[in-house]
Amino acid sequence: MTHDHAPAHPSRPLSTLLAPIRGQLIAAALLAALGAALSLVPLAGVAALGANLLSEQASPWSSGAIIAVSVACLFASGVFSVLAELLAHLADNRITGHLRLALARHLMQVPLGWFGGRSSSAVKRALQDDIGTLHSLVAHFFTTLGRVLGAVTAAVGYLMLMDWRLALLALLPFPGFVLFLRRAMAASAQHMGPLGERIAELENAVVEFVNGMPVLKAFGNRHDPRYQRAVSGFAHAFDQFTRPLVVAMAKANALIAPATVLGVVLIGAVLMVALGWMTPLQVLPFVLVTPGLCAPLLLLHAITHDLHNAVAAAQRVLDLLHTPVLAQPVRAQHPRDNELRVEGLGFAYDAQKPILSGIDFTLQPGTTTAVVGPSGSGKSTLARLLLRFHDPSQGRITLGGVDVRHIDSATLYGRIGFVLQDVRLLRASIRDNIALGRPDASQADIEAAAQVANIHQRILQLPRGYDAVIDDDAVLSGGERQRLSIARAVLIDPPLLVLDEPTAAVDAEGEVALQEALARFAKGRSVLVIAHRLDTVMHAEQILLLERGVICERGSHAELLAAHGRYARLWALGDYASALEHDCQQPPAQAPAPC
Ligand code: ADP
Repeated sequence: MTHDHAPAHPSRPLSTLLAPIRGQLIAAALLAALGAALSLVPLAGVAALGANLLSEQASPWSSGAIIAVSVACLFASGVFSVLAELLAHLADNRITGHLRLALARHLMQVPLGWFGGRSSSAVKRALQDDIGTLHSLVAHFFTTLGRVLGAVTAAVGYLMLMDWRLALLALLPFPGFVLFLRRAMAASAQHMGPLGERIAELENAVVEFVNGMPVLKAFGNRHDPRYQRAVSGFAHAFDQFTRPLVVAMAKANALIAPATVLGVVLIGAVLMVALGWMTPLQVLPFVLVTPGLCAPLLLLHAITHDLHNAVAAAQRVLDLLHTPVLAQPVRAQHPRDNELRVEGLGFAYDAQKPILSGIDFTLQPGTTTAVVGPSGSGKSTLARLLLRFHDPSQGRITLGGVDVRHIDSATLYGRIGFVLQDVRLLRASIRDNIALGRPDASQADIEAAAQVANIHQRILQLPRGYDAVIDDDAVLSGGERQRLSIARAVLIDPPLLVLDEPTAAVDAEGEVALQEALARFAKGRSVLVIAHRLDTVMHAEQILLLERGVICERGSHAELLAAHGRYARLWALGDYASALEHDCQQPPAQAPAPC
């Protein structure tokens, strides 16, 4: 079962997603229809029994036969209904399990740079909410539809057989119901799009509100204007959506309420009996069956509403399943050594605004290259490109002579380790977090890695040591989390290391421990380090000064000072970080310009 070859934008998302279980769903709906039709037999039995008892040729045998058939049909109806539900739930289990796995498999191939706040909420919505919506549809919609169609068809057929004139009269309110229902549907469809947008806005605003709560409170502000706007926007859209719907639905419901239908039947029946077209006894089936027609039709409406939600959910799941993936090499090549080269590299997140251009440099094995520059100059983007979070728009990055696009991920991440500003730890034990890249690592190896990363002693202080669970009984500071992520990288023992300002958000005390851990880890490896302070990188073999996406100056610390250029001026200013910012205060150009 796979969806990998489904068209990118199928016009019928639901049938595309449910194609693998179509047969099971049809069978479930047919069984449910049969069950519902058979459940009407006892009602017809009561009418037949009445007629039999009042007739002159009444015999206990015929009454007994009617009762027996009614009971057997009731029993069979129950059996068919249970089978239908079982089949639908098995199909549901199969498809939702498959979709969850397919989504997870697909997301594993999506560029790492794709993951962010917005994409996380899209993933959470698809994996939890949308698959939950599809579960309700698959498990309940098709059997309910079958039941409704089975019950209505059997009831109408039976009444037509009894007396087609009174049957037509009894059905008169129903076209009116359909008319009002269509009006209600049209009104809700018109407002469905804006409502969906407001819901998405509200979800994002809630996430931002919760994340930003400490900042809002710290600045004495109790109200987040964006959140309040999102709440009001949603309330307004919901009002617009429900108002016409409720009015039209109330009229529709009143038209087919059991009392209305029974009233119409009784008025018609009185007239027809008075005209001598039928006997009072022949009215009995209508009195018994017609009031029951209302419930299935209302149910039909309710599940049609679910269907709209499910189509939208299916579309979102399909969109996620079609998120562009990072091209995997057809024939993976093996890097001959650990030399990393960047050749004519250019990159843009969107075509309008190039972020990097014409970047060339080589990271020789065993040496350190530092990248410095003002914020927004593209340093982190460069680091992420080396880690293949994105692929370059121009030029290429090679490792051991092979374009990184032709190296399979396992080999690439076995060779390049990274420690970024934003540490992602799993809500799992410390041991599992360190051993993420080498799940088979021994306890001794894990502890050795933690020692290199300066975090071993801290772990031992936790009540459950290496078994402590992150954010549960292991609440770590920013610097400790960084050191844990270093231990994770140490365990893989990569010859190359990309460090993106790992000390940026760490306090002074934590920074000393972190710098020590980094220095120990970096020893003997090729390192590309992005730094916000020039004094931390003055011993690097090569320093690249990046400004607005281009390399302005390059060389060792001594060479750059001797050149008396921009770097030398920044160094002389002393306060490197703020000097970098102030020196480049001009608004960023549309395209990276040479310095
Ligand atoms: P630096 O690390 O030097 O501060 P970045 O590489 O983080 O710079 O950012 C360079 C530019 O790219 C900035 O203008 C930033 O707004 C933009 N940028 C960074 N990440 C993204 C992204 N995921 N999508 C779009 N633009 C981005």
